[in-house]
Amino acid sequence: MSGGEGEEPFPLDINPMYEGERVRKEQMFVELGGPKKPGFELVICEEEPENVSDGKVTLIGPDLSEMQEGESYAYAMIYKVYGKEVEKDLEAVLERRNHEFQSYIQGYMHLNQRADIWVRISKDAIRKGLKSLKQIAKATVMLYKSELPFIEKMEAIYITDEDEVLRRIKEAEAVYKARDEKARGLHDEDVDEFYQCTLCQSFAPTNVCVITPDRVALCGAMTWFDARASARIDPEGPNAPIPKGECIDPIGGEYTGVNEAAVRLSGGAYNSIKLHSFFEKPHTSCGCFEVAGFYIPEVDGIGWIHRGSKVTETPIGLPFSTIAASVGGGRQVEGFLGIGIQYFYSEKFIQADGGWRRVVWMPSDLKEKIIDAIPEEMRDKIATEKEARNIEELKEFLRKVNHPVVKGVIRPVDGVKITEGWGEVAEEAAVEAAAEEVAAKEVAEEAVKGAVATEKRAEEAAVSSATAEGAAERAEAVGGEARAAEALAKPAVPVTAAVPASVSAGTLMIPITVDISALLPVLEALVRRVAESEGSAVGGGGLKITFKDAEIRVGKVILKKSGREKKESG
Ligand code: SF4
Repeated sequence: MSGGEGEEPFPLDINPMYEGERVRKEQMFVELGGPKKPGFELVICEEEPENVSDGKVTLIGPDLSEMQEGESYAYAMIYKVYGKEVEKDLEAVLERRNHEFQSYIQGYMHLNQRADIWVRISKDAIRKGLKSLKQIAKATVMLYKSELPFIEKMEAIYITDEDEVLRRIKEAEAVYKARDEKARGLHDEDVDEFYQCTLCQSFAPTNVCVITPDRVALCGAMTWFDARASARIDPEGPNAPIPKGECIDPIGGEYTGVNEAAVRLSGGAYNSIKLHSFFEKPHTSCGCFEVAGFYIPEVDGIGWIHRGSKVTETPIGLPFSTIAASVGGGRQVEGFLGIGIQYFYSEKFIQADGGWRRVVWMPSDLKEKIIDAIPEEMRDKIATEKEARNIEELKEFLRKVNHPVVKGVIRPVDGVKITEGWGEVAEEAAVEAAAEEVAAKEVAEEAVKGAVATEKRAEEAAVSSATAEGAAERAEAVGGEARAAEALAKPAVPVTAAVPASVSAGTLMIPITVDISALLPVLEALVRRVAESEGSAVGGGGLKITFKDAEIRVGKVILKKSGREKKESG
């Protein structure tokens, strides 16, 4: 690309193959926005052509040559756009394309959207001759105008002065809010078409983004109105209508049209999606979600954490980044879900799984931000890091506030009780554990009695026949091994698992706790038996048993849709 008459050519490659390129910390010249500094991107569609100076680029604040290597700076990218066909509804989708176009630039990493943007410029880009952010702005405007010919005039204002970014970010947030509120009056039942978005398939090929009036894009950058405007003006672009088809499940939000789109867009990886379900056929998640949800089996509830939260740990001991890694990649993961923040305001927010009545935890900065989305009766029942930093504290808090998960969640949309409540579950588990402990002891005692009886029989056989000695030894060995094998094959080991009240076909992720102390009586019996057969004495006190080269096998249980069929792999 030429930089214009008298200007140096743009020094970096521009090619879609750079989409998804990461600039790691050690390769980074500077970081703009991101976790340390404020940042945002905003597109303003102007109605009058004279309000846009085509091709003009303004930079407010220090340029690359004035920045220190390895440092972070505030960053805002504002674009003013004019075109006879360009309507206000296009602002959000044009804004989202900034991510796509800037990702084409070699050595320039653009992540996230709106006021969460995170940019890194590599040292290599500087070595290749990148001198100014104005060069980036010009390249971006060139990409917009060549890819979207309906843009007749475009101007860029980039800001790195932190005070100015902070001042203007408030204006940007007001614009985002107005766009989001506009979409809230419309519902899935009111329209005939939803919209797909394939922008993120470059790095998450099986991702199926479905944007509906009740489900904003998971990146938060697009409402149903925005996607519709985009599909109209750019029919070959990433947004296209999805005819709803027949509604199969009004509570989960399953439509035949969406299922057909799921097969087509995921290349056959998925054949159905429930738009408002957390556990069953949930929406896929690429990597751009604003908020990640995670199931907490110990309390049978759901926690949420957002990108950029000041809270680093969740009660399950994992930070956002680790949870995000479990959710992302364009996969459908039962028990995890990526959403846009505005989905919290949806009347259908995970309604199949109890909606807000199933939510047990979120960081305080997220809770404050969306407090008006939470039904009043639930506001004091949802814990934050201030009340619960681990599972035990969470349980205690939920019990204290009498959270619906404690006694069982009644789904608001149809009044059906969808979870049992963990009071009963815990009691049952305790009773089962006690019974299993007793059974384990009985098995161990039986093993000892059996060993002694075999020994006696072998001794009698040895007396009655000179040739019986070898047979007795074999009998003893075989009998002992058989009993040991039997005892070990059926160890009545207390096992506790937080099994969700409702499960569906698929791969389950359920933490299982196995108390191997119940195996000790069995092992002790074996040790004593071996020692005695070798003629060595075993002290009457407790034995020290060391596991050497012990094998712990972890497998998974896959429930197939055909129902009772169960496959175990170890
Ligand atoms: S997250 Fe979904 S809606 Fe947002 S840009 Fe990516 S594909 Fe489009």
